[in-house]
Order: sequence, then C-alpha cells, then structure tokens
Amino acid sequence: MFDKILIANRGEIACRVIKTARQMGIATVAVYSDADVNALHVTMADEAIHIGAAPSKESYLLGDKIIAAALKTGSQAIHPGYGFLSENADFCRACADNNLVFIGPPTGAIEAMGSKSAAKRIMEAAEVPLVPGYHGEDQSPSILKASADDMGYPVLLKATAGGGGKGMRQVWSADEFDEALAAAKREATNSFGDDRMLVEKYLTRPRHVEIQVFCDSLGNAVYLAERDCSVQRRHQKVIEEAPAPGMTPELRDKMGQAAIQAAEAIDYVGAGTVEFLLDVDDSFYFMEMNTRLQVEHPVTEMITGQDLVQWQLLVAAGQPLPLSQSDVVINGHAFEARIYAEDPANDFLPVTGNLSFLQPPSESKYVRVDTGVLEGDDVSVYYDPMIAKLIVWDEDRERALQRLQQALGDYRIGGMTTNVAFLNNLISTEPFKQADLDTGFIEKHRELIF
Ligand code: ADP
Repeated sequence: MFDKILIANRGEIACRVIKTARQMGIATVAVYSDADVNALHVTMADEAIHIGAAPSKESYLLGDKIIAAALKTGSQAIHPGYGFLSENADFCRACADNNLVFIGPPTGAIEAMGSKSAAKRIMEAAEVPLVPGYHGEDQSPSILKASADDMGYPVLLKATAGGGGKGMRQVWSADEFDEALAAAKREATNSFGDDRMLVEKYLTRPRHVEIQVFCDSLGNAVYLAERDCSVQRRHQKVIEEAPAPGMTPELRDKMGQAAIQAAEAIDYVGAGTVEFLLDVDDSFYFMEMNTRLQVEHPVTEMITGQDLVQWQLLVAAGQPLPLSQSDVVINGHAFEARIYAEDPANDFLPVTGNLSFLQPPSESKYVRVDTGVLEGDDVSVYYDPMIAKLIVWDEDRERALQRLQQALGDYRIGGMTTNVAFLNNLISTEPFKQADLDTGFIEKHRELIF
C-alpha cells in the first residue's frame, strides 16, 4: 500500500479521501489555492502545498503544478476526487510519465468515455442497450435534422463533450429544430470549446438509475447495486437514493450485468458509474459512463457497508477487490441531499457569501455529513456552491425518509440563501413519499414544493 498520497482536489471530497487514507495509515498531501489557505482540507491533511490563484484554471486545473507538488513531497499516488482533473486523460498520462499512480482508471478508459458519441459507439459494439439516437461523426445540420425527423419528436440535443447538464436542448417539433441546434451549439462552445452534438430520443418520464461498478487490475469486476438520481434541477442531481425504489433483484442483475459489460468493453479499472435511463416499462438505456468516484457514492457505502475510497486505494495499489459479486449484500435504505448555496426561487442560481453560522445535524449511525467548509468560510464564485452532502440511512425507505426530514429540519445555515427548506418541502410531498419518481419530478410538482 502507498505511504503517502496527494489529493488533487478541495472541499468535501478532499476531506472525504483524507479520512479514509488516515484510517489506512497513509499520509496525505493537500493542494490549495489563494482562496483556500484556511480551508478544512488543508488543515486535515498532513502536508499542504500552495498551487496558485483562486480561479481553478490557475490552481486546481494545473496538472503540472500538482505533479510537481506530488514529486516534491514524495507522494506515490494522486487521488483526483471528482471534477477538476479527474477525467482528464492528459493528466492521467502525465502521472504515469512521472511514475505517479493515478487513483482512477487507465488513460484509455477515460479517453473512450470522454465523448458521449464515441462512448455510445463503443457501447453499441458491446451490445449494451442505448438510448435510440444519432451518435455519428458527420455533423452536418441536415444529417442531424434528418435523424431527428426519422426518430420522431421530442428529441434531445446533447453536446458530445457535455457534462453538468450543459449544452442540452429539448426539441418538441421539426420547426423548432434549427433554432434549438444553434442554441445548444452556442452553449457547448462556451462550456466545452466543442460544439459537436448527438441527437437522442427524448424520453418523457424516465428515471435516472445508475450502477456503481468496480474493477481491479487482476480482471475481477463487481457491481455495488444502483442509485436512483431522478430528482434533478437543471439536469443536475439534488437527491439520490439507494437502492432504487421498486427495483427487483432480476432487473438489478440485468442492469448490473450490462454495466459490467460496459466497463469490460473499455478495460476498466477502479470505481466507475454507468448511467442508465430507466423507462416505465423497465427497459433501460445506457447514457454515459463516469470514470471517477461520484458525488453520490456515500448512499452506496451506506447500504453495502463498504468504503469505496478504500476500495479505490486497494485497486490502485494493485490489490484485488475486497468482495466478489455474491458477497455484496444490500442492507436498508439511504438518501443523500445536496445542500447548495443557491436560490430555488431564482431558478436555482448559485449564491455566494459568508457562512456566518453553520450548525449541521449531529452525526450518528443514521446521519452522516460530508462537508469541506467550516463556520466563517466563504462560498465564493470560484468553485461549486455545494456546502455539504447530508446522507441518512435506516432499515427501510420510510424510516430513512423520516431521518432525512429530521436532519434537514435540524440543519442551520446563516449568511446566505440555501436550498435546505426547498429540499425538505420536496421530500415531504406525497409523490416523493410514494417514490413516484422521474426526472421531471421538480417541474411536475412545482406547486406542491414551492
Ligand atoms: P450530463 O453529462 O451533462 O450530466 P447526461 O447525459 O448525464 O448529461 O444527462 C443528464 C440528465 O439529463 C439525465 O440524468 C436525465 O435526467 C436527462 N436526460 C439525458 N438524456 C435524456 C434522454 N434521452 N431523454 C430524457 N432525459 C434525458
């Protein structure tokens, strides 16, 4: 096992990784920007290296500086967390060139899943079921339009380089197509510097159900059940739960097998998530694979009793997976609520400010709070406005939901607008209690929630 690792991230995920590393007796090195001099992840780590100015492009995205910090401190491996450089193939390659272990998949797997279109072509060849659509290389507007006309409306335009729900547009009829394409391309250029598009059949009431997979370097692969992440705003998740309500062992097995097929098709190693859309008739379709640890991994940890960061470190050190498929046991039900500095009444736009008062609910076997901020910290414009992840567990969904209501009710945050009250209203609605979920949940139940 490694003696020392560097964490190329900030906030809650950097703190999360440090916790497990410490439990495993591994020393940790944090990196930080001008904005994070006093940040929690810096105080938690054994050592910390300053890497630049507040904007991510001048610090957390500077692969060369981070690698230099790792070499200088004698770190053997780099954990990239999520976001920033976690799915950057060049960074992954640069780690290898400097004899540093990248705690994540091989470069080739990152590259293969880096474009949504190329990923779909690989999955098609591996016979993983896909959302029907056009994912070819020819980008002529007439071809894109013809594919939409053939498929029938509504369709969804998606940036092939996309992420974070950006560069997506629904198109409800042929006469809206050209305008929507121009708008989606503009947004994709702004966000990713790449305006290539794919076209998908727009499913009107799907659920977002994703499978956690894990592969080691010895050829073993397991899936650790699923997460339902249907409750979204701006195509981004706000509440996740595991297991997915109504999931049968048969369907779980089918989706799990498909996810492993997907991972094996790209010689995957490490933690990965295969995202599917699940339709009302239980058919499911591959959307994309995220080649990193996900924000919502704790709900999987709560129902499996496993530490996924520990698994990542074991696999990265060349060791076998701790469990085989038949040893994976699901126990109880877990929810995660993402606490954001944002204004639900203003289209969920991020807000900034100083956390002048911060009192999370008390932690126990039932309640876990993953955070990277302390009272008095700023939530700045530079980074993701997530304040914390509130995770709860209990023996069944109903009881876990009560825990979540209680914990959200106990959360006290002063100094800025947050989504805490919104989340509590949302989970207290009858449709949420009934687990009547789909990705349009928030839109559909606006009047109940607000
Ligand atoms: P991103 O990488 O930007 O997050 P995804 O491809 O993961 O984009 O999609 C994000 C969300 O958009 C999904 O969770 C789902 O709610 C919605 N979505 C994506 N594709 C479709 C589709 N074909 N039909 C309906 N909804 C979709």
